[in-house]
Amino acid sequence: MINVLFAATEQRWSEYEAPLRESFAARDLSVDLRTDFAPEEVDYIVYAPNSPLQDFTPYTRCKAVLNLWAGVEAIVGNQTLTQPLTRMVDHGLSRGMVEWVSGHVLRHHLDIDHYLAHQDGDWAAAHKVPPLAEERGVTILGLGELGRACAEALAQFGFPVTGWSRSQKEIPGITCLSGETGLDEALSGAQILVLLLPLTDETTDLLDAARLAQLPQGAVVLNPGRGPMIVDEALIAALDSGHLRHATLDVFRTEPLPAPHPFWAHPKITVCPHIASETRPRTAAQVIAENVARGEAGRPLKFLVDRSRGY
Ligand code: NAP
Repeated sequence: MINVLFAATEQRWSEYEAPLRESFAARDLSVDLRTDFAPEEVDYIVYAPNSPLQDFTPYTRCKAVLNLWAGVEAIVGNQTLTQPLTRMVDHGLSRGMVEWVSGHVLRHHLDIDHYLAHQDGDWAAAHKVPPLAEERGVTILGLGELGRACAEALAQFGFPVTGWSRSQKEIPGITCLSGETGLDEALSGAQILVLLLPLTDETTDLLDAARLAQLPQGAVVLNPGRGPMIVDEALIAALDSGHLRHATLDVFRTEPLPAPHPFWAHPKITVCPHIASETRPRTAAQVIAENVARGEAGRPLKFLVDRSRGY
């Protein structure tokens, strides 16, 4: 029997229990799946970083911690965690992010807000022909699982897409950049900028006043990555000065975003409550079951986190 501890919130347990049981059964894995075990009896931990479990020291038999989230910044620095750590990469997460990013890019590209603001019978005032996608440069910071999927989807619409990553990539149809000078070029061509980097020491405060100033006049920023990558005050200043047209933000330094935060009331900011892409229980359960099967067969786990890199 393989003992799998589910360590996340109670709500997640109600969503994940049945899909996990089905996925383990589909792989003929004899799993005892529970929310409580004596720590020394646990073989795997299915984990969400907002779980009360923060000390991994007593889990002496545990072969891996399988994170339910794509982002690992809240667990990667945990000194008690010595077991291998995997993160979530799954079909539902990627497709959700592609849909969210595509929708918000098209909102700003087509300037849908302009027509919503001109519904008063004045045809001439409403009349504004949007440019073609091929005339609008889109840059995505981060070309990992999510950034690459979004880049490829946006390229299908005809946007000239530039992507920036730590290691140099080659993706057909995408201008791939890396390094400091690559970032300069990526920002200077970004009429719409999408942040899909992980939160690490290197990406914290990445978009400060100087970097925001590198964006073209009238640029739009979409942040479905992590809040601390943008310096809040610098973003507000760039919007207030008219340098930036709009920012659509899904993630924040403090979540839930407190009601008095100036982002809520800012006319050029759209706040989304961290919904850009949720881990979907049905597909995520299959990823978890596959990794348990791999662990039991002595095969390498998929989506291992490199703790020295922080993602
Ligand atoms: P990923 O596969 O690990 O990709 C990360 C990308 O960022 C990689 O291309 C990586 O470069 C690049 N990168 C990392 N550090 C960098 C640096 N210092 N400079 C330049 N590039 C750097 O991650 P993912 O699955 O695409 O997810 C990205 C992030 O999205 C997650 O970490 C999470 O924070 C966020 N997310 C948000 C939601 C939401 O609902 N809002 C949902 C899921 C995920 P290399 O390719 O060279 O390694």
